[in-house]
Amino acid sequence: MTKSYVIKPELGKEYPVISHGKGIYLYDKEGNRYIDGSSGAVTASIGHGVEEVAEAMYAQAKEVSFVYRSHFSSDAVEKLATKLAEWAPGSLNWTFFVSSGSEATETAQKIAIQYWQEKGRPTKNRIISRWMSYHGITMGALSMSGHVLRRKRFTSLLADYPAITGPYPYRKPEDMSLESYALACANELETAILRVGPEQVAAFIAEPVIGASGGAVVPPDGYFQRIREICDKYEVLFIADEVMTGVGRTGKAFGIDHWGVVPDLMTLGKGMSAGYTPMAATIVSDEIIETITKGSGSIMAGHTYSANPQSAAVSLAVLDYVEKHQLVEKAAEQGAYLLAQLKELADELPLIGEARGLGMLCALEFVKNKQTKEPFALSGGVGGKVIQKAFEKGLLIYPAMGGIEGVAGDAVIISPPLTITTEQIDELISLLKEAVIAVQQELQDKALI
Ligand code: PMP
Repeated sequence: MTKSYVIKPELGKEYPVISHGKGIYLYDKEGNRYIDGSSGAVTASIGHGVEEVAEAMYAQAKEVSFVYRSHFSSDAVEKLATKLAEWAPGSLNWTFFVSSGSEATETAQKIAIQYWQEKGRPTKNRIISRWMSYHGITMGALSMSGHVLRRKRFTSLLADYPAITGPYPYRKPEDMSLESYALACANELETAILRVGPEQVAAFIAEPVIGASGGAVVPPDGYFQRIREICDKYEVLFIADEVMTGVGRTGKAFGIDHWGVVPDLMTLGKGMSAGYTPMAATIVSDEIIETITKGSGSIMAGHTYSANPQSAAVSLAVLDYVEKHQLVEKAAEQGAYLLAQLKELADELPLIGEARGLGMLCALEFVKNKQTKEPFALSGGVGGKVIQKAFEKGLLIYPAMGGIEGVAGDAVIISPPLTITTEQIDELISLLKEAVIAVQQELQDKALI
């Protein structure tokens, strides 16, 4: 291979070069085939190589690809915003377009702070977030993220926003009912707000289902309903980070829809354009936009590529495809099948502590001791080994390892395209099983389990 000057995740490592993709499969230049069992980073939700999207891309490129949002709007952007207003719950009718999930959560943070400034309450400028969460890699988004591993190098530069822990049913106190656990976790938010004072708090941000930092951790019923009540009581905006869970991934349009709760702001990314273009969004309520319109009249955020017609046309084609092929409903149905298969694996293999998930966002958590749920000393290490083994067998899965060393968080995410068939799920499961058994054997051989 000729020398590469691309800065890759692991410097010095050679990565296979992909030549093309079709449906749930990716093919490299050496002729190897991979099942995209995680949709990349939970992104390629309509599968690879969809013709309609390629056509929409070309049609828009022939008209115009870029106009600057300070000069013009475009049909593509207007149509996309209208569609998102139809999809989104409550009065979440207004979209601020950006290009990545991190930009979406940064923008949500800024809009929340600006909202309170416009209301004449400028001290309400703190965000409360949760440990075991991920909201993005830029400094503002990372400040909100309770992802220990990703924060570590920059801790002294970050705001201390993670203040509470989210519900983690697998590791709840055994003598507590799920119902009271849900309330106890939600009530931590009330304590956190009272500690800093409601007049200091602009917003609370949470992922409806915890993704990269925990691995498809689904909250118990009642949690988000109580969170909404607390936010209302103390006039704190609720931001649902739907970058991973949005656009059908969990079997509903948005993750938060499972609990009938309407946030004040919502962020989207990943599945919104299914990997066909960098596109993300911050969706905002009528009340917030009316307040800012009456106030300064302009939101202090934005990027060069915000609301460009090229990405908007692509995202629109992706949403059309999701609607036309009823992929939200399909994610619910096929996701239930996928989870049932994963639970069978968990029953069979001692290395798997739990199989969990919602819709087509599932995970396996690995433990040293299934009875005591004792995690491995090196958090993330076993998940990493399973990912490597699966890769060698032609299956892609995604790490979820933001836990604290030795305190869980050793999980992998399984989140194939929403288009996956039952036979393809069986194919995925059989490769995954082989990978877990191979790692189990290796650990046994080294007397580590
Ligand atoms: N929020 C959530 C919930 C995410 O899962 C991610 C990405 N894993 C982000 C934000 C950041 O998105 P991006 O990587 O596109 O910046």
